Amino acid sequence: MAENKRDYYEVLGVNKGASAEEIKKAYRKAAMKYHPDRNPGDKEAEEKFKECGEAYEVLSDDSKRQRYDQFGFAGVDPNYGAGGNGPYGAGFSGFGDFGDLGDIFGEFFGGGSRSRASTQNAPRRGENVMSHLELTFEEAAFGCEKEVATQRIENCAVCNGSGSADGVIETCTQCGGRGQVRSVQNFMGMQMQSTTTCPSCNGRGKMVKNPCTTCKGKGKVRKTNRVKVKIPAGVDAGQSVRVRGEGCVGSNGGVNGDLLVEIYIKRHAIFTREDFDVLCEVPISFTQAALGAEIEVPTIDGKVKYEIPEGTQTGREFVLRDKGIPEVGNPRRRGDHRFTVVVETPTRLTKEQKELLRQLEGSMEETPKRKKFIDNLKDFFD
Ligand SMILES: [Zn+2]
Ligand SMILES: [Zn+2]
Repeated sequence: MAENKRDYYEVLGVNKGASAEEIKKAYRKAAMKYHPDRNPGDKEAEEKFKECGEAYEVLSDDSKRQRYDQFGFAGVDPNYGAGGNGPYGAGFSGFGDFGDLGDIFGEFFGGGSRSRASTQNAPRRGENVMSHLELTFEEAAFGCEKEVATQRIENCAVCNGSGSADGVIETCTQCGGRGQVRSVQNFMGMQMQSTTTCPSCNGRGKMVKNPCTTCKGKGKVRKTNRVKVKIPAGVDAGQSVRVRGEGCVGSNGGVNGDLLVEIYIKRHAIFTREDFDVLCEVPISFTQAALGAEIEVPTIDGKVKYEIPEGTQTGREFVLRDKGIPEVGNPRRRGDHRFTVVVETPTRLTKEQKELLRQLEGSMEETPKRKKFIDNLKDFFD
């Protein structure tokens, strides 16, 4: 990594003779440009930000700058070449954490951490809570009511969400109720004013003298919430059913989050579905296929009698209109029931049965498909 290091002057875009003021200015400009708050998720900007911070740390310090001018990186970074833990190693590694830098730079950007601090007391909607439910095919098709147990954040029932054991709540003395404090920090030789969340009250602006023992003064507790969930008819796997207000409690008068129940559907022995259509296979014998027959077709409403015509081929699909799954939100409209007949070839024939079939075979003409196939074979091989 050290081999790829750029010259510190080059990093800040200043020349070797630059004054301390010029270096400071250049660094400020670069740091603002590459600040992670301005380039969220941008790895390259993050690297540049680290790089210019490191350059500034060296060039803003007279003795370090002198060593750097004389010996290059080896003069200021003992890890460069020689190895070992020198006095400057720790300073460099400190650039990895942007949490503190974000606050220090907050003032520069007129937003960032400052706006975060000022929204501490604003109403905030509670977090959503996720859960899942496995339904049978029929439950999903016709709808049902199920109980779901989730964990969510609720107001503490003992202190009514106040966090106080005796109801005494005072304005925070450190921030005067604003929830945020200003401070001047010295950051690599620069005076920087920053606004941060008040450490005494965690931004709430209020202090509790005697914290509630149940919630330890937080006003909120994690609890198991049992909810009856109405599953609408027609719901499909992978969809989520939303129950408003059954998520975590909101803050400062904000509304509750929602509960989102993701639907799974158990495999059915007979049916599968395609949107609102129900599909199934019905095995038939080859005599039924040849002669036609009244067969029983299973649907989600029960068995239905159906007349298949003579000469039915295997794999043929029949459709029973509006016998499928009700549409979500419009249960009077339903999909279709589509069933495919599959001719099952008999496997355990007696001697007599085999003889009868041979007689039958001998008496029959070739069927149209076979005839065409035999003709094609002739064309192809002769
Ligand atoms: Zn409490
Ligand atoms: Zn405070």
